Amino acid sequence: VYPIREGGRILEFIYSSKRLKTKGGLTAGTATTHYYASEEFNIKQEKTKSFTCSPQEVIFGGDYKQSTYCHLLLGLLFWDEVELIASTFAYSIVQAFASFEEQWEEICSDIKDGTLSSRITLPRMRKAVLDIISPNPCLASQIEAICRDSKASNWYGIVPRLWPNAKYVYSIMTGSMQPYLKKLRHYAVSLPLVSADYGSTEGWIGVNLDPCLPPEDVTFAVIPTFSYFEFIPLYKKKQDLTSSTVGYIEGEPVPLSQVKLGQEYELVLTTFTGLYRYRLGDVVEVAGFHNGTPKLNFIFRRELILTVNIDKNTENDLQLAVERGSEVLSKYGGELVDFTSHAEVMHQPGHYMIYWEIKGEVEERVLGECCGVMDASFVDHGYVVSRRTNSIGPLELCIVETGTFNKVLDYFIGNGAALGQFKTPRCTNNHILLRILNLCTIKRFHSTAYN
Ligand code: AMP
Repeated sequence: VYPIREGGRILEFIYSSKRLKTKGGLTAGTATTHYYASEEFNIKQEKTKSFTCSPQEVIFGGDYKQSTYCHLLLGLLFWDEVELIASTFAYSIVQAFASFEEQWEEICSDIKDGTLSSRITLPRMRKAVLDIISPNPCLASQIEAICRDSKASNWYGIVPRLWPNAKYVYSIMTGSMQPYLKKLRHYAVSLPLVSADYGSTEGWIGVNLDPCLPPEDVTFAVIPTFSYFEFIPLYKKKQDLTSSTVGYIEGEPVPLSQVKLGQEYELVLTTFTGLYRYRLGDVVEVAGFHNGTPKLNFIFRRELILTVNIDKNTENDLQLAVERGSEVLSKYGGELVDFTSHAEVMHQPGHYMIYWEIKGEVEERVLGECCGVMDASFVDHGYVVSRRTNSIGPLELCIVETGTFNKVLDYFIGNGAALGQFKTPRCTNNHILLRILNLCTIKRFHSTAYN
């Protein structure tokens, strides 16, 4: 659909995390970590005649900040060869360009002089990158001119300007990645966003057969031989019929061949690597069929639920409410960088807390309005009734200082997560995370939507 030149390059924001040995001698790690270390990763590059810009030492560096800097530097050095921009999850691309906004001058200076910033301290990474680069003052001044100009328009369309031969951006953009689409579109503008396949470390699931579709409309055709798939039908409880909540009754699992159009299911995998009837925790809807295999719409992860008492709101419900609130924010020139939430039940009545990191100067009055709009956007019957009777208190919007979500990321990476597979938790009860968020809160607003 979007043909690329043979022998071109992929600017891939990919990162591997640590691998460890189990007592039984098996190597354990995330799916992508195994993949980048495997022979298949090289075979894929040879067969598709598309080569990643960064050497193994950058992908395996172990420090995502240093790796991101080198990915960007090398991507720019090979600017005319780059045919596509990719990552596993869309978050990594948005995160990389947020760093680029801060570091572009340093990167340009490295390109000009053929040097490497002192922020790269890992010896193997330094050597590998220095072996590739050489001074290129002409390229550096071209990039500098583009950046100066783009900075004035808040980096609108920076991707096609820096990589004019790139044909598309490829990454997982559905589910919990959907909130980053707006920023991705801002950076990529005219470049098609191709939503990547659906899978997990436990087992791969389905492929996107319609790469032209906007990510919001993408479905995934299950490849029946990836695992033995079963589907637990999920029926909404009667009182929840009017809402999009998760008050589900579970039916008996059915095999792939017996799923029904329009029905929601939880996925169950039995894999070749030994998982037996493993509940993945993802809720999907059958949106159609490709030949005999179902095309799935990813709905949300089941365990992510905001609840105080009889209310139940999923990641999807939260995402919708935040989307409504952030529409108000953008109307007044603000931008939502990232968000998470917490159901506060230590004090009576319990209430929802939504943490926002924002960019741009916005009046307090506007933030108060955003808070009210989000509160009114949760349509779950249990929530609405509880809010009306004040058995759930007003929704609290906490504005956190710039860089807070980077601290959240650092906390997870410090505990062994891989940037390439990182997903900001949309709802948390983690004490350390809540401590970071609360320490970084600079403004608080309470909804008056139900006053
Ligand atoms: P991981 O644990 O990093 O292997 O991530 C696997 C999980 O990421 C899945 O169970 C899904 O919840 C989510 N995921 C993977 N691919 C997609 C996709 N294409 N759309 C939405 N969510 C996805």
